[in-house]
Amino acid sequence: MTETPIPKAGIDRIALYRGGESRLDGRCDVLKLSSNENPFGAPEAAKAAWSEVVGELHRYPPADHSGLRHAIAEVHDLNPDRIICGAGSDEVISFLCQAYGGEGAEVIHTEHGFSMYRISAMASGAAAVEVPEVERRVAVDCILDGVTDRTRLVFLANPANPTGTMLDASEISRLAAALPRRALLVLDGAYAEYVEGFDGGAALVEARENVVMTRTFSKIYGLGGLRVGWGYGPAHVIDNLNRVRGPFNLSTVQLSVAEAAVRDRIWVRRCFQENAACREWLSRSLAELDVPSDPSSANFIMARFRDEEEANACDAVFREDGVLVRKVRSYKLPDCLRITVGSEIDCRRVVDSVRRFREVQK
Ligand SMILES: *Cc1c(COP(=O)(O)O)cnc(C)c1O
Repeated sequence: MTETPIPKAGIDRIALYRGGESRLDGRCDVLKLSSNENPFGAPEAAKAAWSEVVGELHRYPPADHSGLRHAIAEVHDLNPDRIICGAGSDEVISFLCQAYGGEGAEVIHTEHGFSMYRISAMASGAAAVEVPEVERRVAVDCILDGVTDRTRLVFLANPANPTGTMLDASEISRLAAALPRRALLVLDGAYAEYVEGFDGGAALVEARENVVMTRTFSKIYGLGGLRVGWGYGPAHVIDNLNRVRGPFNLSTVQLSVAEAAVRDRIWVRRCFQENAACREWLSRSLAELDVPSDPSSANFIMARFRDEEEANACDAVFREDGVLVRKVRSYKLPDCLRITVGSEIDCRRVVDSVRRFREVQK
C-alpha cells in the first residue's frame, strides 16, 4: 500500500455539504427555488457600489472592516466594536468552531439543524452532538439534556432552516440562562429580516456574556454570490474570533457592496412585504392541495407529504416542469421538500406543478 499524507482525525468522516441544485439538463427556463435566494436579486445600490470599486482593485482591502461594521452598527443600533465580518456567515460559524471547538470539545446542533454547524465543528476537531427536536421545532429541554462538561458551543438558527419554525424570545433566554457558563450559545439569524420586529437575538447578546448572533447578506439582501456575513457578540468573544480570522478575509468588493446594501432599508422592507404575502398565499394554496406545512417565519416553506415516496413523486413532477426545490432527506426529513418563496409568478408556477402532481396521481 502506498502511503499518503494523513489529515487530522475525523476529517474523513465529514459529510460533504450539498447546495441546492441549479441546473436541469436540456432546460433553459429553470426556476431555482432550492437555495432560499432573493427572487428580486440584489438592490441597485449594491450593484452601483460594485462598479464604483473597480478602480481600487489593486489595493488591499482594509483589514478592520471599519466601514461595513459601522454601517451595520448604525442600521441595527449595535456597538461596531463587537461586530465581526466574514465570507458569509459560514465563515463566522467556522471562526466560532476554530476558537471554541477543537479536540475534546462537544458542539451541539439540533436534529434538523443547518448542516454547516456539524461540518465546521468536525473540521475543528470537536465532536458534533446531535440532539432531538420535537415536531420539527428546536426544543430547549432536549438541548439541555445534551449538555455535558465538554459542551463548548450550541448552534441554532432562529427562524430555523429547513423547517422555517421559530422559538420565542422567552425560550431562547431560558436556554441561554440554563447553559453552563463555559458554553457559548450561537443564534444564527440568517432569516431574521423576514420576521417583523425581530432583532435576531441582539438584545440577548447585550444582556449576556455567552450569546453570539450571526447574520448574513445572502438571503434578504440578495447577495449569496458575494459571500458576506457578520457576527455580534460580547467583546471577549469577538476578540477571540478576530485572532483566527485572516486579515484580508473580505475583499474591497465584498466590503463596499455589502455596506451599500445594508443602508438600503427600503429594499429590505419591500422584500419583507413581498415575501410575507407570497409565503402566505403559497402555504395556503399548497394546503388546499393536501400539502401541509408548518407556519414559516422565513423565505421558504417546508412542504410535508404522506411519506418519502410521495415527496419524491412530487419532486419528479417539479423537475418535469423545470422547478428545482430542495430535498431535505439529509436533514432527516425524507417526507418533506423545502421550497423557496419566489415572486408571485414563481409561486404560481409551484402551485400549478403541485396541482398537476395531484392530477397525475389519480
Ligand atoms: C443560508 C443560511 C446561512 C447563510 O450562509 P452564508 O454563508 O451567509 O451564505 C446561515 N445559516 C443558515 C441557517 C442558512 O440557512
